[in-house]
Amino acid sequence: MKDADDKKKTVQGPLETARRQLLAAARIVNLSDDILGILVNTKRELIVHFPVKMDDGSLRIFTGYRVHHNLSRGPAKGGIRFHPDVDLDSMRGLAMWMGWKAAVANIPFGGAKGGVACNPKQMSLAEIERLTRRYTWEISIMLGPDSDIPAPDVYTDSQTMSWMMDTYSILQGYSVPGVVTGKPVELGGSLGRKEATGRGVIICLTSIAKNMGLDLNGMTSVVQGFGKVGTAVSRFIRDHGMRVLAVSDSTCGVYNSKGLDIPRLVEHKELNGTVKGFPDCDEISNEELLTLDCDVLVPAALNGLIHGENAHGIKARIIIEGANGPTTVEADKIFQDRGIILIPDILANAGGVIVSYFEWVQNLQELLWSEQEVNEKLYKIMNRSFDEVYAMHQDKKISMRMAALCTAVNRTADAIRLRGIYP
Ligand code: NAD
Repeated sequence: MKDADDKKKTVQGPLETARRQLLAAARIVNLSDDILGILVNTKRELIVHFPVKMDDGSLRIFTGYRVHHNLSRGPAKGGIRFHPDVDLDSMRGLAMWMGWKAAVANIPFGGAKGGVACNPKQMSLAEIERLTRRYTWEISIMLGPDSDIPAPDVYTDSQTMSWMMDTYSILQGYSVPGVVTGKPVELGGSLGRKEATGRGVIICLTSIAKNMGLDLNGMTSVVQGFGKVGTAVSRFIRDHGMRVLAVSDSTCGVYNSKGLDIPRLVEHKELNGTVKGFPDCDEISNEELLTLDCDVLVPAALNGLIHGENAHGIKARIIIEGANGPTTVEADKIFQDRGIILIPDILANAGGVIVSYFEWVQNLQELLWSEQEVNEKLYKIMNRSFDEVYAMHQDKKISMRMAALCTAVNRTADAIRLRGIYP
């Protein structure tokens, strides 16, 4: 137990990374200490301890969180994570990144994050449903289509959102689809939402390749994490004529130098719950996966997995962050020194929150847009965001991460100044 605790302390968590990034960006944009003081902190934090009836008749107490970073630009928006590592500091860091992401995309949301410390892999579906409904009830004082709109994140999905929407609606006495996004289409979810984060990643990859004079066709890639984001990214990568040499999940990685058959691998993962055992490939560790020879690395798992200890071994020349906060500050510096171009999370994986924004708008207006309309609008916003960040990166000679952060911090600071300080 002591070892595990000690190890946890040495891992750079999302809050530390997010705060160090903010301080670096604040220096570049000459942010006043007053505004920095607001942005380095969160606005509101709720911690709930609640009981859930387990299938064996016992009661278990779980701890859940919902954190709002800064709401000057709009209602709180951010995912719900069910994972053993969920704690207050990780929620704070992830909420800050959500705020920056909405600001880079220039959509009217503030950052939020929530979750429950639990291991859904060891729970039955009925237990997860009871946990989701009770957690929703516990944090319902923060939720609402005008105040706080959750979405799926790690180990939560459209089914989780259906239960959250249903529980919130029961409390109100009428259906409130706009309280969550990432719902099934049958319940007011948006067409195109499921693939949106992956689609956004590939839009950014196409743009950076164009700027670097590279042709994606024939290039190779490696994807860390084979969940909602990782599977969608892998499919799009393949559609662009690239080979996916390896992917991994929490169990292990699978590698084939000729390229993996992604549709078959998706079926294998759905059937077995893991990529392990996929035929015609070598099993590798997650650390080995990071050091494979490839053109593009897509981290699409958890935060902090790429750090000062393993960044030197990475051979990709482009890193595009599907995950939130996969790279520590030390690893970032190593990539910059080695001339590896990194497209940061708050730009690269914004496709999900952008189509969540479309879903919310459709719910509020009681409209249903076609998939083509959704994708066209997504392309427009992703391309505009990429071009703005890329122009600042070139102009100020700063990394793409810093350019994205500076864009976000400036927009959020402007909103704070315009609204003024009450009273
Ligand atoms: P998910 O739960 O669907 O998938 C997570 C995947 O990561 C799983 O395959 C899991 O096995 C794997 N994984 C867990 N620990 C790992 C480890 N140590 N090494 C390698 N793989 C590991 O979650 P998701 O929605 O795909 O989210 C993945 C990342 O993308 C997270 O950082 C999330 O915050 C971020 N993100 C998600 C969305 C979205 O729309 N879902 C949007 C933006 C960013």
